[in-house]
Amino acid sequence: MNLFNVYPINPINIVKADGLAVWDSEGNEYLDLYGGHAVISIGHTHPHYVQRITEQLNNIGFYSNSIEIPIQKQLAQQLGEVSGKEDYTLFLCNSGAEANENALKLASFHTGRKKVIAFSKSFHGRTSLAVAATDNPSIVAPINETENVVFLPFNDEEALAIAFAEYGNEIAAVIIEGIQGVGGIREASVSFLRLIRSLCDQYGSVYIADSVQCGYGRTGDFYSHDYAGVDADIYSMAKGMGNGFPIGGISISPKFKASYGLLGTTFGGNHLACAAAVAVLDIIKKDNLLANAASVGSYLIEELKKFDKVQEVRGRGLMIGIDLPAEFAHVKKDLLLKNRIFTGEAKPNVIRILPALNITKEIADRFLTALDERLKA
Ligand code: PMP
Repeated sequence: MNLFNVYPINPINIVKADGLAVWDSEGNEYLDLYGGHAVISIGHTHPHYVQRITEQLNNIGFYSNSIEIPIQKQLAQQLGEVSGKEDYTLFLCNSGAEANENALKLASFHTGRKKVIAFSKSFHGRTSLAVAATDNPSIVAPINETENVVFLPFNDEEALAIAFAEYGNEIAAVIIEGIQGVGGIREASVSFLRLIRSLCDQYGSVYIADSVQCGYGRTGDFYSHDYAGVDADIYSMAKGMGNGFPIGGISISPKFKASYGLLGTTFGGNHLACAAAVAVLDIIKKDNLLANAASVGSYLIEELKKFDKVQEVRGRGLMIGIDLPAEFAHVKKDLLLKNRIFTGEAKPNVIRILPALNITKEIADRFLTALDERLKA
């Protein structure tokens, strides 16, 4: 049977990993600054993570969601503590798309409305509601109903105010990434996020903070909207939550009365995924990784701004976009082939780095030296 390749296949065969280091099948070592697209949050094969999942598997790997699963409660309690949202309710699922799907569905049930406001260059996932709110025509199929989604320019306060003035009473939800990831590392301004909050309050719409890529401590805050001092009604999360073990969730404001049976899934909140997620939160807390993300991230951003060939450095914490002029289109590939450093990209010519939150300053320096070498070559 042929295999459907989701992404263009990289010929390097990674077979082993430890922290931010990965090795190919020939024993060559690479530095992973992409973390499988913001997924690796506490480093690869962290001993506590491996031990926690192994112990869980030795006890019970899976049983149905129709029983009490204490580790789910433990996860909710730890997540409430680290995110500072102890009065929110956690619904567990399996991916970022599924998290956004449920967030949008819940918003629609809660308000009885259909319209959704999303933004240019947004990415919310590939399932039907999530993809309908995604501004990427190449992945929106004709079957996806988009007529209820209105795309507005990102960070355009006037356009947002006009949209609410015209049909605010029909708007179920506004969904926004605090920092657009796939869209090229673009940060929502503080005043834009505050305006979303106040318009959602005024019109009874639901504010959904897609924190799948920019959340989970990546920016130094737990959720990416924290820096604006606003509370969203629903935070969606996935990626870094399980450090590679598939898990997603939505954190739901206490103002919702999410009734039994409205949201559901077979695998969401399974014992193994919860063990992985609990281990991640243990390490985030024990090793003070939010502070590390903030400090190493700011250091990287400040240093990158000193490169004269870099057009713009965008982002916050460990979510960084390095915008290069067109003649440096080969740099990402060269960083991999010549310096053995994995990075990501965004169109047209942005290098994205999304390393594990326990990156050290020494590793950051290694990257800065390599980039300097590439830009001079
Ligand atoms: N939201 C954002 C902001 C994302 O970056 C992604 C994945 N790139 C998703 C949602 C979808 O997540 P998943 O691939 O786990 O469905």
